[in-house]
Amino acid sequence: MNIVELQQVEKSYQGVTALHQLDLKLQQGEVLGLFGHNGAGKTTTIKLILGLIGATAGQVKVFGEDPTQSEARNLRRQLGFLQENVSFYDQLTGLEVLQYFARLKGVSKKSCLSLLEQVGLSQAGHRRVKTYSKGMRQRLGLAQALLGEPKLLLLDEPTVGLDPIATQDFYRRIEQLKAQGCTAILCSHVLPGVEKYIDRALILGRGKLLAEGSVNDLRHQADLPATFHLQGNLTLPDHLVPHAQQDETGTRMEVALQDKMSTMQQLIGLPGLENMDVHLPSLEDLYTHFIESHGQHDVRQEAIR
Ligand code: ATP
Repeated sequence: MNIVELQQVEKSYQGVTALHQLDLKLQQGEVLGLFGHNGAGKTTTIKLILGLIGATAGQVKVFGEDPTQSEARNLRRQLGFLQENVSFYDQLTGLEVLQYFARLKGVSKKSCLSLLEQVGLSQAGHRRVKTYSKGMRQRLGLAQALLGEPKLLLLDEPTVGLDPIATQDFYRRIEQLKAQGCTAILCSHVLPGVEKYIDRALILGRGKLLAEGSVNDLRHQADLPATFHLQGNLTLPDHLVPHAQQDETGTRMEVALQDKMSTMQQLIGLPGLENMDVHLPSLEDLYTHFIESHGQHDVRQEAIR
């Protein structure tokens, strides 16, 4: 059974079509990165999966059930959700906030202390939330999302406000949860660093699916070149010269992805070669490619469609 299944889902808000015929299948233990410009339809997709809104057309199934139905109450206990720009009751302590959400979710309060520890807030658990920094509030939000060991995590901008170490800790925690069979959807505008933690990426533009697949699949779909940076006093073979450009840091050369290994083999033994770096298209490069190749580079108006 798919944990999440969207079939030809459309969502319109008062004449604004936020999602067009979206198909999505997520299996247990998969981590999906959901990316797109402002107003692309990411939050709408998450709200549909949570059952907070219903689809205008098409079918949404979560753990095989329609999440908007009131009988889906048990299903909601299996979900963990972190919304963008999380905010809490400022007068409560971190521990009280977590215990409050534990009660709402019907989860034992016992897990709250250990969750605070997991997100690095055990020292601050008895302080009021109004004294928390932005990153501490975000960590509290993560602890809230992890209440009750959810089987499906929906995280909207989970690393916003987290410092680099806390971001690493967060992704390690996602890896552990994935190893335990948890499925996750991560929405983020911060693409660097995400790619090694996701199994698949789905890129939305103006409510339409622009691309979907593992980062490697997307590299092949996009057919962007691999970029070599070479340093040293070297003479390139004649057939590589047209691909090369000199700049102040050395020689820069773009070759088709499928020629990467053969090019490396040709370069490696060249007299005078002191250093060689190879850059594959990053998730950010791929995102920009798919957004621009669908004529969606001017997306500044999207949020106010
Ligand atoms: P962001 O990255 O800015 O959070 P997003 O990808 O999450 O954006 P959504 O919030 O899903 O985008 O919005 C998709 C589209 O639907 C936008 O054009 C938005 O203006 C519109 N929209 C969302 N909610 C409503 C609503 N309640 N009423 C009317 N339009 C809405």
